[in-house]
Amino acid sequence: MAHDGTRESWERHPRKGILPTTEEPAQPSPPLAPPPGPEPSAAMPKASEIVAPPATPQEVPPIAPEEVRSSPPAPAATPPPAPAQRIVFDTYTGTIVRMETHHSGLWEFDFALDKPMRFVAGQYVSVFLPGMKPAPFSIASSPVERERIVLGIEVVGAVTGALSRMQPGDKVTLKGPFGRFVIGDDERKVCFLAGGIGITPFMSMLRWVRDTNPDKRAVLFYSCRREDGFMWREEIARMHETHPSIKAVLTLTGDAPADWRGQQGRICEAMIREELPDFKDYVFFTCGPPALIDAMFALLASMGVPAQQLRREAWH
Ligand SMILES: Cc1cc2nc3c(=O)[nH]c(=O)nc-3n(C[C@H](O)[C@H](O)[C@H](O)COP(=O)(O)OP(=O)(O)OC[C@H]3O[C@@H](n4cnc5c(N)ncnc54)[C@H](O)[C@@H]3O)c2cc1C
Repeated sequence: MAHDGTRESWERHPRKGILPTTEEPAQPSPPLAPPPGPEPSAAMPKASEIVAPPATPQEVPPIAPEEVRSSPPAPAATPPPAPAQRIVFDTYTGTIVRMETHHSGLWEFDFALDKPMRFVAGQYVSVFLPGMKPAPFSIASSPVERERIVLGIEVVGAVTGALSRMQPGDKVTLKGPFGRFVIGDDERKVCFLAGGIGITPFMSMLRWVRDTNPDKRAVLFYSCRREDGFMWREEIARMHETHPSIKAVLTLTGDAPADWRGQQGRICEAMIREELPDFKDYVFFTCGPPALIDAMFALLASMGVPAQQLRREAWH
């Protein structure tokens, strides 16, 4: 069934890309803020009430070269923000208040901060462990919450391995926020293409959309090789089902169980055209393995999406 990307048409469209399969109906993680109803409610916290107005990329401070390995396009010039609204990086102490493994290689950490951090969804922090090089990690939690941050971490080496061996109550030094992989104020339709652990910056962006109801439409394509690789799956499913501006499509590239109801195979042209017929109106953000990022850029370019609508966060 074709659909034009509006909420009404999404609702008519079969929800093949999302739902839990082998599990019981989703028991969502406790929401960070009350989930919105179909209409933004007056009681719904707005970003401007809880934190300073959502920052624009222009507010993000210059980044030390060693702190960033991504280079989104330079934003258009706008008047400089008032000093009180600037996103400035600082040093924080984070205390692990919760750590959970999703499967052996994937961890979710909840850090309580010693002071509030103001950040834009999509930014990252650097984690400093004694005697080790700093390691950058995207913030996965909503910027509405300023006194804690959530990180999703794949164990690949020294720092990530050491983090996975820590315990609740342990402390780490965090520096941030850094990065310009953020949604521009004037970007109303945004599409996130995530491979594996590349979901983390998009989780923050989706939670921000959920929590503050900005004038955005957000569509997520989330690809994993194995079913237990999908982090925050129940929460994503709930956002998809309940938030009028959020749509999520999950696709399994490895073996799918018989009752898998999502998409299968790599994110491809047919999938994008089917799920997002008005794709040319979207700004695409891609994060994940380099091969996925390159493949997505090539694909979208071949589909006629202009280069200025393509953003990447390269981790490697
Ligand atoms: C802006 C940004 C945001 C990021 N956000 C996230 C995030 O949200 N979540 C996340 O999980 N990651 C994220 N990353 C990636 C993350 O920073 C790295 O995975 C992390 O720094 C690795 O540190 P490490 O010390 O654990 O690994 P390292 O020890 O530095 O190892 C890195 C790589 O080298 C390989 N390697 C290590 N030792 C050897 C060896 N002896 N022989 C061969 N290969 C070896 C490992 O397999 C691994 O692939 C982000 C990166 C950037 C730049």
